[in-house]
Amino acid sequence: MVADVTEQEAAEVALTHQLRQQAGVAQLSQSALLGLPLAALFDQTTQLVAESLGVEYGKILELLPSDQSLLLVAGVGWQSGWVGQAIVSGDRHSQAGYTLLSQQPVIVQDLRTETRFQSSPLLTQHGVVSGISLLIAGKGDRPFGVLGAYSRQRHSFTPDDVNFLQAIANLLAAAIERKRTEQALYQLNLTLEQRVQERTQALNEAMHEMEAFSYSVAHDLRAPLRAIQGFAQVLEEDYQGALDDLGRDYVRRMATSAENLDVLIQDLLAYSRLGRTEIHLQRVNVTNLIQKVLADLAPLLQANQASVEIAPNLPSVCAQRSVLRQVLSNLMGNALKFVPPSGRPCIRVWADTSTVATAPPPAQRVRLWVEDNGIGIAPRHQKRIFKPFERLHGVETYPGTGIGLAIVKRGVERMGGQVGVESAVSQGSRFWIELAKA
Ligand code: ADP
Repeated sequence: MVADVTEQEAAEVALTHQLRQQAGVAQLSQSALLGLPLAALFDQTTQLVAESLGVEYGKILELLPSDQSLLLVAGVGWQSGWVGQAIVSGDRHSQAGYTLLSQQPVIVQDLRTETRFQSSPLLTQHGVVSGISLLIAGKGDRPFGVLGAYSRQRHSFTPDDVNFLQAIANLLAAAIERKRTEQALYQLNLTLEQRVQERTQALNEAMHEMEAFSYSVAHDLRAPLRAIQGFAQVLEEDYQGALDDLGRDYVRRMATSAENLDVLIQDLLAYSRLGRTEIHLQRVNVTNLIQKVLADLAPLLQANQASVEIAPNLPSVCAQRSVLRQVLSNLMGNALKFVPPSGRPCIRVWADTSTVATAPPPAQRVRLWVEDNGIGIAPRHQKRIFKPFERLHGVETYPGTGIGLAIVKRGVERMGGQVGVESAVSQGSRFWIELAKA
């Protein structure tokens, strides 16, 4: 009867002990899952191990890169100065080395009579008698280190204790592996970012060089061109009599070609300059600016008997005045130019304001529309006409260099905006530019 009660009590104690250990493992796995830093996880582990097994010491040893020794990276119960400092041998005559080699938990009943390996100064100086150690697995074949628990008295470690420690060692191995993968990913991201930055910078430099090169070539071409234009003019004016009709026709054609080339070079220079100059945004009154553009275009407007309708009170925008003037001038020039042969151009300019849900405060954008009643553009061409030299007609039908809309796009984008067009063949076109509201 007495024996039965004692047995039952012992079973209950064992069960409570086991439950407490399981609760400890669950708590630790939660910490690991939450991504607790490894150092904190190690401290929590050694504390839990020592408490759950009822011993004075808990420790985690990490195998050092040389594979010859291990560092006491975390521990509980040890005198101050040992944790983070103590190095133990990793050869097979030490308990740590022996544990690394054996695939089983290593239990020491009494260190003083142990024959498989020698005690380390760490254990001897702390009066350790009994202990248990297990391997913490690492990446591939290389272990991370050793988990251990030690007592100053003779202590029996039960199979439940061994299972408990094994669960903890497995959990640690998984948490360490996860942290290392995270670290590697983080490093990879850092270098990736840096590589992208370096490449972008190299690309920008190459582009600037190209721009500078084409700018100086275009610039240098204008001097000989002016000489050709000058001599053609001299021939036309002073040698009329010396030339027959065919000769005079050739000279005229020469002069026209030189003039076209000059316009092309000037357009290219303007396009190239837009990519290189610094942009300073300021508040620009669009209504005033459009009046200036209309004044520039006045002779053309008159010659084509064009009608122009500008909406009142256009909102002010953030722009560089000179660039916006060029942009509007190109758009209105095209609206005047691309009309059917006998058509009378009719141009309308108006604006929409919209709010964009960006980071607070929300940005206000202004979309300026330039609408014409001209020949229109088929949807399939509407993207490419913004690229340099893209033209949909021969120069005989509609003169031009094909740079105007490329300047519009580059100019607006450099001011932080966007461009686009809505159109259909024979239905007129509505070009729009969108900029920040001032
Ligand atoms: P350019 O006017 O010198 O030809 P652009 O770059 O200004 O060059 O325009 C490119 C092409 O886009 C034009 O050749 C024309 O085919 C088309 N385009 C531009 N604006 C209009 C418009 N308002 N209506 C119809 N077509 C247009």
